[in-house]
Amino acid sequence: MKKLLFFALTFWITSLQAQDIAFARKMVDTLTASEFWGRGYTNNGMEKAAHFLAAQFKSYGLAPMDGKSFLQQFTYPVNTFPGKMEVVVNGKSLVPGKDFIVSPESRASRSRGALERTDSVQFMNQKERVVVKLEDKLTWSVAPQAEDFTVIQVDKKILDDQPQSFRINIENKFVPDFKAANVCGLLKGTAKPDSIILITAHYDHLGGMGSDTYFPGANDNASGVSLLLNLARYYAKNPQRYSIGFILFAGEEAGLIGSKYFTENPLVPLKSIRFLLNTDLAGTGEEGITVVNATEFPKEFAALQAINKEQSLLTAVAARGKAANSDHYFFTEKGVPAFFFYTQGGIKAYHDIFDRAETLPLNEHEDLFKLVISFNASLMKK
Ligand SMILES: [Zn+2]
Repeated sequence: MKKLLFFALTFWITSLQAQDIAFARKMVDTLTASEFWGRGYTNNGMEKAAHFLAAQFKSYGLAPMDGKSFLQQFTYPVNTFPGKMEVVVNGKSLVPGKDFIVSPESRASRSRGALERTDSVQFMNQKERVVVKLEDKLTWSVAPQAEDFTVIQVDKKILDDQPQSFRINIENKFVPDFKAANVCGLLKGTAKPDSIILITAHYDHLGGMGSDTYFPGANDNASGVSLLLNLARYYAKNPQRYSIGFILFAGEEAGLIGSKYFTENPLVPLKSIRFLLNTDLAGTGEEGITVVNATEFPKEFAALQAINKEQSLLTAVAARGKAANSDHYFFTEKGVPAFFFYTQGGIKAYHDIFDRAETLPLNEHEDLFKLVISFNASLMKK
């Protein structure tokens, strides 16, 4: 009898987790699809993602954090590349994203000419203000301004000779007031609703570079979003003593803009936040996780490690100090206790077109889920 019950219980838990993993996979696939165009600045990618995610929150039974809307809107300046993205070097036509990227602060340029070497990796045409730079790895980002030059970063393995000539046709559009929104939901606590545990992740990524190329951002950060969504689904079905808040930030890749905006315009009193867990890059984990702010909150970090050991979850929970490398940062600066955890090991694609859903293992999704649930439970004992 006992054995049977044990078997039934284990089976129930396992099958539930299999569904949750399948759900996470589906969310990563969806968020990295061309429909959302890298959740950035062209083809309304970020806006579409915001509405999709707000609808997810609503369907789980979350309430808008401010009681009115899931979307907290704000604007910021950004340089975008909605159109032409043609680059020919030494007569060879290069593939956007794969062979080259254009530096995010670049201006439009339709030009051609010769290139002069300025150092071992840099080649320039003074008149056209065009620079060709050779790189070991292409890593894209987002810029808040357009400069009066155009920089083409080329994968150095692509060219047989050093760059001598170029022909480019690149279009940019500077948007002074790009409209973005944080997606903010809340589940009311049963015993202490004015104490809040916040779970956060950014859903934006780099968007598109030209009309045919986008950066999917599977690990960064569709993975963290899928973990947050699974946690939101779980907590919606399992009410807790404290309120649990969920924020999916926009503008992280442009410089933590969404989370900064929230800390300056909080929808819940920052003092009511008992702890914040931020997840960004949660798709791998062969070598465990690293926890930013571990040294700032040693008691909570010890609890996290103890839970991990007790339940044999991740291979390592490594400590790191303060770092301004994701959305926890401005909360920490305002006195909100917070951890930011990211996975280590496995695939290394980062801010490039190779950060794709098909290659993402999501092998520690389940362990991360369990770790967060147990850690939060330890916080809510009092
Ligand atoms: Zn990220």
